Amino acid sequence: MAIDLRSDTVTRPSPGMRDAMAHAVVGDDVFGDDPTANSLEERVAAMFGKEAGLFAPTGSLANQLAIRMLVAPGEELLAETNSHIVRAELGAAAVFSGITTRTWPAIHGLLKASDALEIARPDSGPYLVSTTAIAVENTHNFGGGTVQPISEIAALRIGADNLGIALHLDGARIWNAHIASGVSFIDYGKYFDTISVCLSKGLGAPIGSIMLASKVHVAKARQWRKRYGGGMRQVGILAAAGHYALDNNIERLADDHRRAKELAVAIAGVHSSLIDPSGVQTNIVGLDLSAMSFTAAELTQRCRDGGLWIAALGPKYARLVTHMDFDDSQCEQAIEILKKALVA
Ligand SMILES: *Cc1c(COP(=O)(O)O)cnc(C)c1O
Repeated sequence: MAIDLRSDTVTRPSPGMRDAMAHAVVGDDVFGDDPTANSLEERVAAMFGKEAGLFAPTGSLANQLAIRMLVAPGEELLAETNSHIVRAELGAAAVFSGITTRTWPAIHGLLKASDALEIARPDSGPYLVSTTAIAVENTHNFGGGTVQPISEIAALRIGADNLGIALHLDGARIWNAHIASGVSFIDYGKYFDTISVCLSKGLGAPIGSIMLASKVHVAKARQWRKRYGGGMRQVGILAAAGHYALDNNIERLADDHRRAKELAVAIAGVHSSLIDPSGVQTNIVGLDLSAMSFTAAELTQRCRDGGLWIAALGPKYARLVTHMDFDDSQCEQAIEILKKALVA
């Protein structure tokens, strides 16, 4: 079978997870009656020190519900140039919420509070767009799994408070940030007004994200989720997978990080311009092909011919993501396939 490193979303629920799903106690969640969904929302909210949580089918919806609570139509959200909210949600903030975005660029997506604060323009009056929120992505996906320094997050909070601006955390991979940095979920949570986390990335659940916020914002977001068609019924079947993922799959992310590093070291051994292994902090290995004679699409095809699936995310940018369905022996195989593909 092919080795699939296109994303950490490609994992299949394990037998233990499927068992938990099969035995989930459920009810109609639109009526608020699904005990497993309710307990998952409460559990994740408590983990991050937030008042309440809301189950969403996707991280995109969790992000969109959150920023909708913070930014009114005609106001702006600031985010890093290559952030998921800006580049990978099909313009949803504009389409659904009338939110405009303005961006700051950062190498590898690494947060510097001053980059965001310098372009923030709250209370801009009757002529210019007013900034009402800033989004931070941790880890940063297209930046290559970058962990955001807690010192910069803290500085951003102070600056945002001075300006009266809210903060949203796109924490699709906050689990990976926690394992890599040792910073607790509570410490990450305390700096943000709203948070989205994904259960379906490294944690291995088939479906599910949680939006976290104040009780008032979660109650309002619950209405918007239904309006968007995301009010689900016996969703405890999915929430049970989320509980199982939190119980079993957080600590093991360290293995994904170790394997990503092994891939990066081997790839850098072929050509040092492809990647700096010291920059690989979590489970994402982003390859810069700008010094190579072939494109990301060509590399992807060569790898696929050898039995390894990777993603071409730009003309000269390829991405490999390690995950729980990728073990040490597959890692050795992947390295052999990559070595051939990169010199071909
Ligand atoms: C995957 C991801 C999301 C959510 O994606 P969905 O496919 O909508 O679940 C949000 N933010 C980041 C950084 C992601 O990597």
